[in-house]
Amino acid sequence: MHEYSVVSQLVSALCEQLDDHPGRIVEVLLHKGELRVLSDPALVNAFEMVVQGTRLEGARLRIESVAPIIRCAACGYDGAPEVLSDPAFHFAIPVLTCPQCGGEVELRAGRELYVDQVTVESGGEQGSGSPEGDASDRS
Ligand SMILES: [Zn+2]
Repeated sequence: MHEYSVVSQLVSALCEQLDDHPGRIVEVLLHKGELRVLSDPALVNAFEMVVQGTRLEGARLRIESVAPIIRCAACGYDGAPEVLSDPAFHFAIPVLTCPQCGGEVELRAGRELYVDQVTVESGGEQGSGSPEGDASDRS
């Protein structure tokens, strides 16, 4: 179960970063590139299991999908890739070549996975902390 190990890494990194943030964690916002083959419900389930007994227990995991964006050095195309739907897969596969000239493209977004925001509730007032990218898994 890939989601479990991914979430477990994110949560342990997050717990370390939250050491100097008092208060109850109410929500964790995760940005997930659509090219990551991770199921949202499985991530949420894994999160609920992993946070048991940690600072994050009781927090809600919110997942925001990040659409892939490509850039072509040859013609300057900058935008969404073409998407190929294959019934053999449960998801659509973006084609990582330029839709205008067929050239090689650079992937600008779509493979990220990082905690963007943590909502902390302290004594009735709400504040947000944005931990730096340490909790990312950019592999
Ligand atoms: Zn191009």
